[in-house]
Amino acid sequence: MAYEQARGQLIADLVERESLSERTAEAMRAVPRHEFVPPSRRESAYEDRPLPIGNGQTISAPHMVAIMVDLLDPDPGDRILEIGTGCGYHAAVTAELVGPENVFSVEYHEDLAAQARETLDDLGYGAISVRSGDGKQGWPEHAPYDGAYLTCAGSSFPSPIVEQVRSGGIVLGPIADGRQRLIRGVVDEDELDEREPHGYVRFVPLQ
Ligand code: SAH
Repeated sequence: MAYEQARGQLIADLVERESLSERTAEAMRAVPRHEFVPPSRRESAYEDRPLPIGNGQTISAPHMVAIMVDLLDPDPGDRILEIGTGCGYHAAVTAELVGPENVFSVEYHEDLAAQARETLDDLGYGAISVRSGDGKQGWPEHAPYDGAYLTCAGSSFPSPIVEQVRSGGIVLGPIADGRQRLIRGVVDEDELDEREPHGYVRFVPLQ
């Protein structure tokens, strides 16, 4: 199949360029990105760039998902909170690593959440939990998480999210302080410790 071949090529390029781990590469090989974008964008699904998904939002570029999955580096069975479901693609890649029942995702736009729900169900990721609402509050009902990541940029990590991640867990996402940088921090007793920057990035704003 043409899509499968294009996906294989894209991921081979990412492995080489970004020194992706084999685990992340395998997870990305398993998820059909073209099924997550609007039909008019399918032909571009295996180019390494963001694409519009409606509501002024985008699906992140494949290299960005790859880098974030590598930095989160979850173990099988880890419980992961995502803020910014968008079309559901990144959540599906995470589900390949931890199991779909361990992925909890919050999306601000109700219609994007509904569309993501439908796509995820169709592709066998029905056990991923999605809700619409303000991700700044996290999703306390399913806490504690082993890790959390944001796919939209705020000026700091909202404290409810940090508080819902266990000590030793990871919080990851773009933080805008003028320019946006991808930051990875380790949680220690409800506080973020060991914050490391991982380069400049461009994400949509946290609402
Ligand atoms: N994870 C997606 C990327 C989606 S883009 C992927 O797989 O490519 C970021 C998403 O964050 C957008 O859909 C946007 O609506 C959402 N978002 C922005 N602010 C939010 C908030 N406060 N709570 C939850 N989602 C938010």
